[in-house]
Amino acid sequence: MKKLLIPDSYYESVFFIDRNKLKEIGIKGIIIDIDNTLIPWEEKEADTKVFSFINGLIEDGFKICIISNNTKKRVDKFNEVFGLPAIHKAGKPKKSPYIKAMELIKTNRRNTAVIGDQIFTDILGGNRLGLFTILVKPISTKEFIWTRIVRKLERILLKKILK
Ligand SMILES: [Mg+2]
Repeated sequence: MKKLLIPDSYYESVFFIDRNKLKEIGIKGIIIDIDNTLIPWEEKEADTKVFSFINGLIEDGFKICIISNNTKKRVDKFNEVFGLPAIHKAGKPKKSPYIKAMELIKTNRRNTAVIGDQIFTDILGGNRLGLFTILVKPISTKEFIWTRIVRKLERILLKKILK
C-alpha cells in the first residue's frame, strides 16, 4: 500500500517541477493549491513568475484545476486572470474535491497529479485517491497558529522521507 503521507515528488518550489517528467509518466491533469504553493498567504494575486508558470503548463497541454480550502473570494480573486476551473472551501484532504476536480478537467486517477505545500491536506487527499502527488516547500511562514503546528509535524516527516 502506498504510504498516505509521503509525496511521490518533492520540489523546493513549483518553478522547479519537471514538466517533461510529468509528461513521461502520462500526467495530463494537474490539481493545484493556491496558498503558499503559488502565492504567499498575504498576497492576493499571481506575480509574473506564477503567471508564466501556469501559462507554461497550459501551453504544454496540461489541464489545470485549482482546489483550495480557502474562501470563494480568495480563490476568485486569484483566478481572475486565469479563469481556470476552481473549487473553493474544498475541505482537503477529503476525496470529494479531487474527484470533482478530475470531472471538471476530464482526467482520471491514473493521469492526474496534485501539487501542494501541505502534507496533511494536499498530499494526503491526493494519495487517498492514488493520484501522483507533488509536495513543494511552502512560500510564506506567516500563517495561522494551527497551520504552524502542522508544519512542524510536516518538517519532522519530511526529514524522514528525505533521509
Ligand atoms: Mg497551501
